[in-house]
Amino acid sequence: MLESVCRNGIHLIEAPSLEIELGVRAVFTCRDGGVSRGPFSSLNLSYNVGDSRSDVTSNRNHLQEAMGIALSNWVFCRQVHGVTATVVGPLQVGRGSTDFSSAIPRCDSLVTRLERVPLAVLTADCAPVIMVAPGGNAVSVAHVGWRGALAGVVTVALDKLTGIVCCPPGGVIALIGPHIGPCCLEVGEEVAERFELRFGDEVIVGRPPAVAVDLGAACRRELEAAGVMSGNIFDTDICTRCDGSYFSYRGYSGTTGRQAGLVAITRYPG
Ligand SMILES: [Zn+2]
Repeated sequence: MLESVCRNGIHLIEAPSLEIELGVRAVFTCRDGGVSRGPFSSLNLSYNVGDSRSDVTSNRNHLQEAMGIALSNWVFCRQVHGVTATVVGPLQVGRGSTDFSSAIPRCDSLVTRLERVPLAVLTADCAPVIMVAPGGNAVSVAHVGWRGALAGVVTVALDKLTGIVCCPPGGVIALIGPHIGPCCLEVGEEVAERFELRFGDEVIVGRPPAVAVDLGAACRRELEAAGVMSGNIFDTDICTRCDGSYFSYRGYSGTTGRQAGLVAITRYPG
């Protein structure tokens, strides 16, 4: 399902079969191929991490060419590790595409039925989770860190997605993008207990005092519990902290850029 490709000098992870079969483009970016410098080197896509604004704009423009959809149509949100999902209609198109302040506030997932309107979340260790409704007539992307996972952000986004097209969740396709792996996501005992309670003991790795949680497995469990078929859930299985091709909040002590998870309906099938 997920493949590494190079477009316009940018390495991306894409799902080509989704585009062929459903007319949906799903993309996860890496950190190479942009113009940002220092800790933001080089394809930083966030206006809100201290990078030069013009460099971020150049990076987004460069990615726009690789995506093949005008940046003026892209939609970003101001993520807060919460659960709010926003349905993007014609009035929201373009919000946050060229600045931070116009991005949709206090929101961690976006859903749309609009064609050629890429939805984006920005991450550095958190998981970008893309969901595609059966037939490809609605798409969603969610920003899932450990707080959002515990709060149920995946289920809220999934409910919104299936609600706007009135479909059961079984046939939804879910792509879990690069995120910090269980190798690196050490948490306190209290967080580990909450993960175990919500997702089961298989998301817990190690023993106190060095307990880690498996964020990807937690997303998978959440999707399965909400009715998505296991065979429809795909994980890149890339750890953003171990793999040097990604921005990692923990790996760079908080001063780093952001990669993106993007999804767009490129055409309605058939
Ligand atoms: Zn790791």
